Amino acid sequence: MATYTKCVRQYSQKLSPDTMEFLRWLAVAYAKVKKTVYERYGGIGSLGKLTPGYTALNEMRASGMRQELGMPVVYYELAILDALTAIKSRWGILRDTLKRLAAFNEGFSKEDRTYIYAVLKWVSVYAAILQGKPYEEPNMVKDLPVNKRRLNNWLRRQTRNRLGKIRVIREDGFTISPKAGYSYKNGVMKIAGREPRKRVEIPLRDGRQFSRQLHIEVKEDYIILTAPITKEACLPEGWTNEIYVHIGNVDALTLSNGHIYGEGLNKLTDAETERLDHKNRLRSRYRRAIREANAEGRIGKASAISTNNLGAVKYKRQKERNRVKTENFINAALNKMLAEEKPCRIVITYPIKVGKGGKIAKTAKRKLARSFSGFIRDRLQEKCEERAIEIVKIPSKGTGLICSACGEEGKTTVGNRFKCEHCGYEATVSLNGARNIERKYISEHG
Ligand SMILES: [Zn+2]
Repeated sequence: MATYTKCVRQYSQKLSPDTMEFLRWLAVAYAKVKKTVYERYGGIGSLGKLTPGYTALNEMRASGMRQELGMPVVYYELAILDALTAIKSRWGILRDTLKRLAAFNEGFSKEDRTYIYAVLKWVSVYAAILQGKPYEEPNMVKDLPVNKRRLNNWLRRQTRNRLGKIRVIREDGFTISPKAGYSYKNGVMKIAGREPRKRVEIPLRDGRQFSRQLHIEVKEDYIILTAPITKEACLPEGWTNEIYVHIGNVDALTLSNGHIYGEGLNKLTDAETERLDHKNRLRSRYRRAIREANAEGRIGKASAISTNNLGAVKYKRQKERNRVKTENFINAALNKMLAEEKPCRIVITYPIKVGKGGKIAKTAKRKLARSFSGFIRDRLQEKCEERAIEIVKIPSKGTGLICSACGEEGKTTVGNRFKCEHCGYEATVSLNGARNIERKYISEHG
């Protein structure tokens, strides 16, 4: 039976100011350790120290940073391991990128590519090449008729250009491990405290108990615990339909059978976009007024404008509320679609990549940042995993503005309306898209 991993959340009760102060201090110290590990081991020179990671761990143990911070061992070491995992996964992503670049590089021969793939597979060889150190060549590349100097230079250059730095973005959380890090007594969670053998009580809102690593997010006067749990997935009885779904920003989900779920998503997001634009214009006007007042030496006036009009907390809260509202709307639409259509298979397209070389217009970028199609896809994926529904992704080529009735390209569109000049077929762009997904999928897999 298929299984899936789900993150469940658990909330603490309201915690005392002392406890909150400790947790906040811990989160900041945790972020400091991660930052140091990123700085020390995120570069090319440390690539060989990452697997299995003992070298880095031992060096960090001996560095004295833990004592300086006064941090309990359990937290200190998890912070190091957390950071090393992040560094390793970034190297993994980079190696995948280089493989893709090599695959599409027209200046490379088949043997060139074989060489690059092999080197990227052997981390120790890749590390030695980057660091300019001697290494033993794997057998499979020894006799390849390629210019190795040129290819090694390519690897070095691409790596240098693309490696980048990892930053610690949030300082409001940490990871905690069972036994040494936390335990339960009489239904109350106790976590390792600043002093050895003195645990800090965390009363929880429900009685669930875990026995694996948890992530903790520190809020104003409570915490959120996140635990990954593994569950079994099972397709509900009688769910045998195949549906073809267009994911959009106007209506969230349009099916080739004409059914629509999450109709009018754009009304929610457009209103929010307008509200934010208006707010941002006002805020920049206030900022200008403050600058002017300051320049004229009217400090009192400047701070009055600031406190009365630039409430960042209120602004953020409102923005957050609207985001949650839109996400709830999408969730409800997805649930309704699954319950009514009872699918065993859902066919969608891969997400459309924006622009070439990652360069897109500022306005398009802003629009994209507020687009929820990524959220829809992620939630759809999750919900399907939970119910063992198969998701099939097909390339979006040929599902856009081609007529789903006659297959011709002659088309006109106004807003979300599609009209075929060739046969006169008319529909929304979304419905035409969904019907194209069906047509394409069936013609290729029928
Ligand atoms: Zn047509």
